Amino acid sequence: MNKKKSRYKSDFYVERVLESDRLILSRAITVIESTHPEDESLASEILNKIMPYTGKSRRIGLTGSPGVGKSTFIESFGKEAISSGNKLAVLTIDPSSLQSKGSILGDKTRMNDLSKDDRVFIRPSAAGQNLGGVSAKTREAMLLCEAAGFNIIIIETVGVGQSETLVKGMVDFFLLLMLPGGGDELQGIKRGIMELADMILITKADGDNMEKAKRTKQDYKNALSVLKSKNSTLPPVMTCSAIDGHNIREAWEKIILFLQAKETSGFLKQNRIQQNLDWMHEIIRSKIKDSFYSNPSIKNLLPQIEADILNEKTDATYAANYLLTHFWNSHTKK
Ligand code: GDP
Repeated sequence: MNKKKSRYKSDFYVERVLESDRLILSRAITVIESTHPEDESLASEILNKIMPYTGKSRRIGLTGSPGVGKSTFIESFGKEAISSGNKLAVLTIDPSSLQSKGSILGDKTRMNDLSKDDRVFIRPSAAGQNLGGVSAKTREAMLLCEAAGFNIIIIETVGVGQSETLVKGMVDFFLLLMLPGGGDELQGIKRGIMELADMILITKADGDNMEKAKRTKQDYKNALSVLKSKNSTLPPVMTCSAIDGHNIREAWEKIILFLQAKETSGFLKQNRIQQNLDWMHEIIRSKIKDSFYSNPSIKNLLPQIEADILNEKTDATYAANYLLTHFWNSHTKK
């Protein structure tokens, strides 16, 4: 495929994105996701130019294990958001698609109704080589969506590890979905999750599940209050049902009130400034890592060194230093 075929000048993307042209917004995100060197400089031009128009949205992160009801929840919650006059963008990060070609978030059509609404923009992140890289691109896609006038952004990820921390680093509010029942999930409630989540919703609280969901809510509240440290506030725990609408509006209103309070107190702005600083370091780490592993001299040496470690012929520290020396030398020689 001719990668350059459908590229425009940066001003064209910028003008159209600012006019909320969804097709060009989509193409601009494709440029940002591309790893082609020419696209990378076009992407950074676009990003620089749209920067003054970004930052005006409420950024909400959402995570939960596969099957917990994320897409059904977003469908219902998203309708609540647009019915009160907002424009919604949903961006998804699926860490599973990095390893396998398949994805946990699914090839099935997700968020059917929302995807047909012209106040909504839905976009999965392209799989990259590493999660840091993918989420950096998601963050940039979020900025483009903001410039296009989407004032509520949901960043969805599958709760299987590192991706939640990365998402937490780009949002103002972090929502955790949990299934009713199962002491197993309670085992997983650690201090880390409490620090991450601004709200916990127990999903599928309808029909026969209602009682179980209520009990689970109480279990979580108890577990959280045990973990609570002196200065932390406990995240609210609520039951909800995306199927019959139970507590969906309440959750939406609570989140909006919470964010308004954080804005008034100045916390929102301070948090975003800190996030920016963290992202700079994340991008540096990610680029250095890419540059190391794509270095021809490293690519050449790595299989043998790995084999030496597996055969217990060499030690990890020695091997790492050996490779790093080659990496640095290959740069200074240029
Ligand atoms: P995801 O993998 O987290 O995105 O989960 P899905 O939204 O695809 O939902 C997984 C399954 O749970 C589907 O069969 C949904 O119909 C079902 N589901 C989702 N939300 C609810 C709910 O509020 N109540 C009930 N009873 N089922 C739900």
